[in-house]
Amino acid sequence: MPTLSSDDAFAEVKAKVDLVKVVQEHVRLTKRNKDYWGLCPFHQEDSPSFHVNPQRQSWYCFGCERKGDVFTFVELIEKTDKRGALQLLAERAGVELKKLSPEQKDKADLRKRTLAMLKLAAQYYEYVLWKMPAGEPGRRLLESRHVAEETARRFQLGYAPAGRGFAEYLRAKGRSLADALEAGLMRRDGTDFFAERLAIPIRDERGQVLAFTARAVRQDEQKKYINSPDSPTYIKGRVIFGLDLAR
Ligand SMILES: [Zn+2]
Repeated sequence: MPTLSSDDAFAEVKAKVDLVKVVQEHVRLTKRNKDYWGLCPFHQEDSPSFHVNPQRQSWYCFGCERKGDVFTFVELIEKTDKRGALQLLAERAGVELKKLSPEQKDKADLRKRTLAMLKLAAQYYEYVLWKMPAGEPGRRLLESRHVAEETARRFQLGYAPAGRGFAEYLRAKGRSLADALEAGLMRRDGTDFFAERLAIPIRDERGQVLAFTARAVRQDEQKKYINSPDSPTYIKGRVIFGLDLAR
């Protein structure tokens, strides 16, 4: 029995439900070649721009550009969250979900908070890189490596300034510094773990930031690259990272 909200639970439920059938309960679909088309349930329209791909079990609306899989469809149509969609679809598919034990729930909560913190850090570093005078060393490094802004933005590169910039940013936002410590973003003295480095997010296939690898900008820095310490979202060596600035 897969545990509620685990990746296994999503995979098992997804394998047992058919997106086309789920959509058809809300949208009249017409088959054209291998695909299905209908009027989008998420925006007003007179001609069908809502497209379902049964092979990939994915949907996309050419009108409002909403898209996703069976879970996102149910989330939107039933106005629930991801977990709610999982529960609805699990019932439908006859997949029984095991409740989380208190320890598992704590672990899941911590992971969620860590992910939120890492996302925030990536946004902050990216902002510093492009918008702040403090981002200058990062911009210079990219320029010297001929990394175009477009590429840098695709990988959501950022710059961690010297000192306690991130801690101050969190304080200003009323966010927990403890979570930032847990996420490996800060040292105990409040300085930034990646200070004076170009921060490169390590992301999973859904684009969630799990950790950072960070390249020194200063020549006298001993270690050219450092990685996030192990955290609730990241264990070294597990995740493959796609951009090599080492050369
Ligand atoms: Zn639409």
